[in-house]
Amino acid sequence: MDLDSFTRNWSELRRLVGPSVKILQVVKADAYGHGAIEISHTALKNGAACLGVANADEGVQLRVSGITAPIIILSPSTKGEIREIIKYGLTPSLSDLMFAGEFQRHLEEAGVTAPVHIEIDTGMGRGGILWNEAPALIRKILAFPNIVVEGLFSHFASSEICVNFNEQQGTLFLALVEKLSAEGISIPIKHMANSGAILNYPRFFLDMVRPGLMSYGIHPATQTEGKADLCPVMSFKTRVILLKEFPKGAGIGYNRTYITDRPSRIATLPVGYGDGYGIILSNQGEVLIRGKRVPVVGRVSMDMVTIDVSSLPDCRIGDEAVLMGRQGGEEISANDIASRIGTISYDILCTLGKRAPRIFVQQGRAEAVEPRLRRIFIPQEERSLARIDGMIRQCFQVRARSEELGDAIFYEMFEALFGKNDRPLELRTNFRYDITLSEPGGEQAGETGPAADGFRVTTHIEYTKVFRNPVFLIGCALDNGQLSAFFDDPLCEYRWLLQDGGSGDADKDFRVNRVRIDEEDIPVIRRESTNRGYEVWCGGEHLKERLGQQVRVELEVVTRSSRGCRFFPVYLVYPTRGLEINFRYEGTPVSTVQEICFFAGKHPYPEIIRDPGRCVSLRIRDGEWIFPNSGVTFLWDYDPSK
Ligand SMILES: *Cc1c(COP(=O)(O)O)cnc(C)c1O
Repeated sequence: MDLDSFTRNWSELRRLVGPSVKILQVVKADAYGHGAIEISHTALKNGAACLGVANADEGVQLRVSGITAPIIILSPSTKGEIREIIKYGLTPSLSDLMFAGEFQRHLEEAGVTAPVHIEIDTGMGRGGILWNEAPALIRKILAFPNIVVEGLFSHFASSEICVNFNEQQGTLFLALVEKLSAEGISIPIKHMANSGAILNYPRFFLDMVRPGLMSYGIHPATQTEGKADLCPVMSFKTRVILLKEFPKGAGIGYNRTYITDRPSRIATLPVGYGDGYGIILSNQGEVLIRGKRVPVVGRVSMDMVTIDVSSLPDCRIGDEAVLMGRQGGEEISANDIASRIGTISYDILCTLGKRAPRIFVQQGRAEAVEPRLRRIFIPQEERSLARIDGMIRQCFQVRARSEELGDAIFYEMFEALFGKNDRPLELRTNFRYDITLSEPGGEQAGETGPAADGFRVTTHIEYTKVFRNPVFLIGCALDNGQLSAFFDDPLCEYRWLLQDGGSGDADKDFRVNRVRIDEEDIPVIRRESTNRGYEVWCGGEHLKERLGQQVRVELEVVTRSSRGCRFFPVYLVYPTRGLEINFRYEGTPVSTVQEICFFAGKHPYPEIIRDPGRCVSLRIRDGEWIFPNSGVTFLWDYDPSK
């Protein structure tokens, strides 16, 4: 796609219509196969007032690419498109009262107004309100409070040739404008002229023109060729991928529709009807190689075409082959191909533009862009997490310039956060974790709860987070499998792993002393032993009113640690800001407590405060981020004789 040619065509356009007529660049059907996003950006740089598309989807594609200019949908829209039209600020064209009414209802509901253009059918017999019914309908549409009628337009049936019917259509349209104006109705932008009319009917330029084909450098008819100097924007090129010598009498391609009538050199090109090079060009098309025209022989396949290069003894694998465009002094134009197979240039451009990668050329610089059939990614519209994850992974691969490294980053970082599935991710702030080791039966005489045969570990945890589940679960896993089952349960607020697999006595192993949300004690609903370990369910319907709010969660749990086990780990599995961890062991035979911190990445190393014989504390300032898979393990010695 030669964007310099496109810009040159725009100068011709501007020369023809003069400085004050607005230009709407028609970019429907992916800009006639040229790539709507690139073409739109270039047209806007050249002074286009707005863009014309065929439906809402095409408009959304442009919006998502960052285009803010007005986008007019030239065909009648459907009810189903109204949501997108409003959301993406597109301008529909109205052809009937039913749609107009529906659009008004949606606008009112959304509490917004929107511009529209009204289409008048002056003889095209397709979109638009029939011209004689138009005044009544326009009055009704004007009465809709949320619809702003910005434009009024009509479309010619045969503007590329000079026939009386064009004058009739134009006259009807002007008469309507006149009639409305007599009623005091004036619509700001009136427009009618497509490429043919821009070249043939200056009288109907009105306030705005709507070029499509001519901006792409193609004349709509041979009759207009003297009126503007246009250069084709699109060429369609490939390379020879295979060369073979055949004897006389060999069949070429499906159904052997071509039999060599002499010894022949046949080249294969990697292009077929799947790329829009129509099957009808079988034994009919021509290709330029080494500046010469050579014929397509045999049937065009889906992905390949064969050409007879017997006349080119120098032809080599890798030679450029031009199926449309210029090479040396020769040219194959869209119109040449179209007339050969009984269609029009519009059709050729649209179909050739569909599959092949596009290369946009501007001031000598070439940039490849995806073909349109690989659909544009629209983040907010994309619901498939698998697809999003796939894209992020690929982004890492590209960014790291290594597939292996990219994947490593993805799995490490991404899966640590979200898990294999869609683990709900939450941010916890001001995380406080108090571990108190004590002798069983210490302060509570007659202790029969946890830790009768070991240390008692009382863990008090506090953090601030957005409240999500009015009824939630605190889990205690006996092994790693159970632990990950708790991780996968979005209702699981907090989870423990018992170091030594538990004693089978839930009450001895794990007791939830206290659950508080914003200082309110939350009742335990039930406790059970399941195949995930021990589950303690808490909460209540009344907590629903806190949903979505920041709350301070407090949990206090008592577990036990056997005498032989001389460590206690704390893991952080959610992104967290601000941290304080205290390990208290006063009054136990534990001595020389060490802490092994594992804070990965750029996190600040925690500040460590020791109070020998009593406590070890870790602190990370409130604003600092701590990422998952960080934590600390406390290790100790102890003197059983004490
Ligand atoms: C497609 C279209 C055009 C552009 O037509 P060209 O002949 O390519 O210039 C203009 N107006 C409307 C309403 C169209 O649908």
